[in-house]
Amino acid sequence: MMIGASGLRGIVGEDLNPELVAKFSAAFGQFLGNGLVVVGSDTRPSNQMYRYAVFAGLLSSGCEVVDLGICPTPSLQLMVRNLEAKGGIAITGSHNPSEWNALKFVRPDGLFLYPEEIRQVVRITESKIKRVSWDRIGKVRRDDSAIENHLKKILSLVDQQEIQTRHFKVVIDGCNGAGALITPGLLQKLGCEVIEVNCEPHGYFAHPPEPIPSNLRELSQIVKSEGADLGFSHDADADRVGLVTEKGDILPEDYVLLLVAKFVLSKRKGLVVTNLSTTQALDDLAADFDSRVRRTKVGDIYVARCMRKEKAVIGGEGNGGVIVPEVHYARDGIAAVALILNYLSETGSSLSLLARSLPRYYMVKRKVKVTPGRFPPPREYLKEQFRGARFSFLDGVKIILKEGWIHVRPSGTEPVVRIISEARTREEAESLSRMGMEKVLKVSLEN
Ligand code: MG
Repeated sequence: MMIGASGLRGIVGEDLNPELVAKFSAAFGQFLGNGLVVVGSDTRPSNQMYRYAVFAGLLSSGCEVVDLGICPTPSLQLMVRNLEAKGGIAITGSHNPSEWNALKFVRPDGLFLYPEEIRQVVRITESKIKRVSWDRIGKVRRDDSAIENHLKKILSLVDQQEIQTRHFKVVIDGCNGAGALITPGLLQKLGCEVIEVNCEPHGYFAHPPEPIPSNLRELSQIVKSEGADLGFSHDADADRVGLVTEKGDILPEDYVLLLVAKFVLSKRKGLVVTNLSTTQALDDLAADFDSRVRRTKVGDIYVARCMRKEKAVIGGEGNGGVIVPEVHYARDGIAAVALILNYLSETGSSLSLLARSLPRYYMVKRKVKVTPGRFPPPREYLKEQFRGARFSFLDGVKIILKEGWIHVRPSGTEPVVRIISEARTREEAESLSRMGMEKVLKVSLEN
């Protein structure tokens, strides 16, 4: 069991047991000061067990519960605000394989709990949780409007008529997750001919539920054989999306943010927010629209908070999780689908052409199983090793050189160090990655 940036996660049948889930839910209820709490889940078979544990915990600390049933995480985040609830709990393993599950805690403003607030909830679990007496136990009521409510908000953002006139043929891979309940309906409303793949929401995932290129092969084949305009694939809770072009080409994950950002900036200049590990292509693209990029620590909560504070026009992460402020400050794979269709209809272009117009970089990602002693290495040493470089020490160390950048960062949830590098060519990116290993990581291990 691990306490992560926005909640707790673990393996079903091992460390993430219902007793623990009930305890954390009760502590979260106490942290919120009771009141209305919205609960929803993705489709995982283990969710039934956790849902009742969450209800029990919340009721025991005096909360009222609104049960949204199976519901994408972004739909739930929006519902918290819509119902003016005190908070929410999303039960979802997100993009992780079936054996994983997690609770994500949502604040009254629809953002995930801040890391310092998670620590407060943990402290409550370590003390004696206050439970209410029999006559103050609230009720669980069912509400099935989360998806409708979310769809309405997304549709209000785009030019529905213009999209409808294109009659796009779209393949949607719902990954047997919560997105299967919303995105096919969105596509229909936008006048698309919809081909559903893995849209039975039973939670027995047809492929690993992460929209990374290696999991999009089936979608790619169906897009080609059906002669579709494009294909979308969600993770299990639909805060992320992956893309396949009309040629069946699987686009790199970060193209989702790049395409949406380009479309949004073409309408309205302004600040773009992303994390330190996201592609430099975003800066190039923003510069074309006289706009800037602000970088945060890795983690969607940092991006969301910064976007709200700085009134960004668009933001998100390179993993296919886009944050559209007009909807909310939450990663939203469904809003991304609507905006990409709007981009296609407005330009009259194909997805492969739009993709080809983006700045091209190569990224190398490495994950090394070590726990560094002293990290990052002394600044003087780094400055000597990387002459003329710019540095950021916001999250691990990011070294920005003429030929590209290297980001070396110990993970917050696993005993690993991530080394991410990017350059104009694969060879240069590989060479930067090796420099990250030799000149940054190895030195910190010797310390
Ligand atoms: Mg997710």
